[in-house]
Amino acid sequence: MALLADGVSALFIDGKFSEGSAGTFPTANPATEEVLGVAADADAQDMGRAIDAARRAFDDTDWSRNTELRVRCIRQLREAMQQHTEELRELTISEVGAPRMLTSMAQLEGPVNDLAFAADTAESYVWNQDLGQAAPMGIPTRRTIAREAVGVVGAITPWNFPHQINLAKLGPALAAGNTIVLKPAPDTPWCAAVLGELIAEHTDIPPGVVNIVTSSDHSVGALLAKDPRVDMISFTGSTATGRSVMSDAAATIKKVFLELGGKSAFVVLDDADLAGACAMAGFTASMHAGQGCAITTRLVVPRAHYDDAVAAAAGTMAGIKPGDPNDPGTVCGPVISARQRDRVQGYLDSAIAEGGTFACGGGRPAGRDVGYFIEPTVIAGLGNDARVAREEIFGPVLTVIAHDGDEDALRIANDSPYGLSGTVFSADADRAARFASRMRVGTVNVNGGVWYSADAPFGGYKQSGNGREMGLAGFEEYLEIKTIATSAS
Ligand code: NAD
Repeated sequence: MALLADGVSALFIDGKFSEGSAGTFPTANPATEEVLGVAADADAQDMGRAIDAARRAFDDTDWSRNTELRVRCIRQLREAMQQHTEELRELTISEVGAPRMLTSMAQLEGPVNDLAFAADTAESYVWNQDLGQAAPMGIPTRRTIAREAVGVVGAITPWNFPHQINLAKLGPALAAGNTIVLKPAPDTPWCAAVLGELIAEHTDIPPGVVNIVTSSDHSVGALLAKDPRVDMISFTGSTATGRSVMSDAAATIKKVFLELGGKSAFVVLDDADLAGACAMAGFTASMHAGQGCAITTRLVVPRAHYDDAVAAAAGTMAGIKPGDPNDPGTVCGPVISARQRDRVQGYLDSAIAEGGTFACGGGRPAGRDVGYFIEPTVIAGLGNDARVAREEIFGPVLTVIAHDGDEDALRIANDSPYGLSGTVFSADADRAARFASRMRVGTVNVNGGVWYSADAPFGGYKQSGNGREMGLAGFEEYLEIKTIATSAS
């Protein structure tokens, strides 16, 4: 079956496809501005039906206790996505504007493959742990610790890596025995809607276990956080929205797991290969037009070599032309929307207003009037207090900041409301490791190491979120812990 064959995606609620009560909304290609088709537009009532279906599937079926069924279903979903890889690839390129080269990695094939980790973890997990017999308060008691699913999970996701983020929630949440309502970003509804088609056609996932509710209205997502029938929110998006989700969830004290924004530092110590490190920083900042939460967007370099560092980063970024994401050589495609492009341009203007200069880039590329493209841009001449050094831009923009030695570099790296990720380069591996251990972030790349993988937890310190996605920690986010004490007298 061809996915989304008629150019319209539906809601997927209780195992059935339905139209949205608010009609439809368009989804477009950010590289061409062409409308690809429409998605069902859910309203509050539709969301209510989805939550109800997820609640019933959790309370009234054996899904949460049938590990063998869950493992089989996750493997079926993985296989179905793998069978449809080429269709999904074209969809991802056209709806997300994701460069083709990234679809064989974190934009598609990586996270699909990583569903195996969720299934394997559920299969091998020790769900009940015998604590043995003791006599607390003099009463002989046998204690068992049971791990159980949290219940109904509301998953709210952004548009930048839709498959990665949807699946990094769906896989472990289902593996742990939860049921789900997935509310994807309005910019990428189809990347989520296809999951409904694949689940219905290719898996034994029972009705109501996975519900997919697309909507153009952010407040429909907010209902998940407020609803008492939802036990947990798993949210990825901006820190501002995360704050609102957390406050909406407070009334029902539901568990809130947040993956939020970042303003990560790429630190080059004075003994490192400056040109090589800065070139890597420039490449990283340009990938997917800088639309990655963990991208290192502050390049922190020795003051004595500041100009060389700016030149090296600019040399790389000036050579990365924003281009057609279909082209296998493209590193930097468009940003997701005109609104996002204008937002990035606003930050670039603020850098100039604060006294910064552009070592390359600075705006829309000449000759590209169609599509939401922004030139990879290096900003020089500003300190860590500049707006472009403090706020998340989500565009291909790198701000170069001078440091006066390791302690100063560390101070700058940690002087951020965020704490998602970081990088440190040094010729001395021990020095780099010491520096990494003092960075207040959830993941660190030391001298080019890659922290992204199915078995490695990912998440943020400070205002970059709480909890961890991926790895065993990412699975256990979706579990409650119950201590059972049985009288042994
Ligand atoms: P966003 O916060 O605007 O939206 C994210 C999701 O939240 C969307 O589905 C949106 O519809 C929904 N939403 C908006 N307002 C809501 C509300 N009041 N209540 C409930 N849901 C609401 O983020 P975005 O612009 O789609 O994505 C970019 C942001 O996501 C960046 O800040 C980026 O750093 C962050 N992000 C973080 C990670 C991570 O793992 N830490 C990964 C990817 C993206």
